[in-house]
Amino acid sequence: MVMTPQTSAFIDEGAIDEALGGAATKDAGRLREILAKARDLGGLEMGEVAALTSISDPDLLGELFATARAIKEAIYGARLVLFAPLYVSNLCNNDCLYCAFRAKNTALTRRALDTAEIRREVELLVDQGHKRILLVAGESYPRQGFGYVLDAIATIYSVHRGNGEIRRVNVNVAPLGVSEFRALKGTGIGTYQLFQETYHRQTYKAVHVGGKKRDYDWRVTAMHRAMEAGIDDVGIGVLFGLFDWRFEILALMQHVRELERAYGVGPHTLSMPRLEPAFGSDIAEEPPFPVSDIDFRKLVAILRLAVPYTGMIMSTRETPNIRRETFALGISQISAGSRTSPGGYADEEHLDEAQFQLGDHRSLDEVIRNVAELGYTPSFCTGCYRLGRTGADFMDLAKPGEIKQHCDPNALSTFLEYLLDYGSPETRATGERVIAERLAGLDGVSRSRPEDMLRRVRAGERDVFC
Ligand code: SAM
Ligand code: SF4
Repeated sequence: MVMTPQTSAFIDEGAIDEALGGAATKDAGRLREILAKARDLGGLEMGEVAALTSISDPDLLGELFATARAIKEAIYGARLVLFAPLYVSNLCNNDCLYCAFRAKNTALTRRALDTAEIRREVELLVDQGHKRILLVAGESYPRQGFGYVLDAIATIYSVHRGNGEIRRVNVNVAPLGVSEFRALKGTGIGTYQLFQETYHRQTYKAVHVGGKKRDYDWRVTAMHRAMEAGIDDVGIGVLFGLFDWRFEILALMQHVRELERAYGVGPHTLSMPRLEPAFGSDIAEEPPFPVSDIDFRKLVAILRLAVPYTGMIMSTRETPNIRRETFALGISQISAGSRTSPGGYADEEHLDEAQFQLGDHRSLDEVIRNVAELGYTPSFCTGCYRLGRTGADFMDLAKPGEIKQHCDPNALSTFLEYLLDYGSPETRATGERVIAERLAGLDGVSRSRPEDMLRRVRAGERDVFC
């Protein structure tokens, strides 16, 4: 039986420093060898990732981006999965210097949505066409304690409106013990997400100055406890801007490899938020290690090469431009039409209770139209997790490329469902054109399944997936 490690020894700062110290290579031949290896979709080692971080030559940078695009295309095709965050509460006992929800921010209005308010928010999201929600909360719960989150998930799944409902709830809440993780799994969540923020211990200590979150080890071992509790889709991430991004992506790799070693499967997703301005936070205004747009694209591309089968999530923190550029480099999931304050969908006035400022303010319909115009297929698919294709079972299908036989038709059927039930006339026209193009690009055999599924959706059936 695998034991929960009590320490964070698998994040080995000495090894990271050593890899970065030897990274700066001017040997273009060596860098091209690494890019060629990455094209085989087998991932990369720490030393190779470190070497790629040193690329500055424009030609090599172009080759790095082209490699990331080729990998994204081979594994994820043109699909982009859409979701909306749902902030249920901004109560928090921690004091993370970068976050508007931190306990010491006494100017923030505190609010935890009650059942009726959660239901209202979910109705609004369902009426926009959303099928996937990421539930987010600060680390302090109303009277029921953690049961508040469990009840909130039950409420979200209970909402049915017309043809719509939320079919997958992912969760981003503070680290739990194994028994609480079991209870969380029992509610039928999809992915449990938690970002380490920074893997650099000294920086971690300096920016987490109050509350339970000060405990680096408790946080970095959270995914071990989640896995032991049977949650095999987990999402990890870094809040970029707190420390050197090169260090952070190597540490992220160590975390991935540790989960693979201990549980036979790495994380389902990676997230890479950059620090955004937040009400009442000085360091969010002026990040100690700002990541430039070019470095951000570089880090997304490098992660795509390093862990090709792990989904990568981009939130509405980023501007439409950066989002567009990084879709091509490997992003597979995006949020759209987001609000980051509890009650923010029902009531715009609550925006001053938001966690941080958004970079993309467009509606879901606008984002979908834009994504489709750019050549991607927006997807609301929730098939895998509902058919039990999670954790290692998912990776077993993903690695030989078989998962595409499910993802592509599911993307088309859920996209059509969106267009028919929620799309504006303009988006519907664009979307129908994209669907026709996708079908035309398939040979007769692989076309029959999506064609059949699309026919069923047009005939009025909903939630058609394989
Ligand atoms: N309270 C839980 C926690 O801290 O893990 C979960 C919710 S917290 C609101 C979700 C994430 O928001 C954090 O993990 C952090 O990475 C991100 N975040 C906080 N402040 C941010 C800021 N100013 N800009 C961008 N992302 C931020
Ligand atoms: Fe609380 Fe999470 Fe914000 Fe930290 S990041 S202050 S734990 S909500």
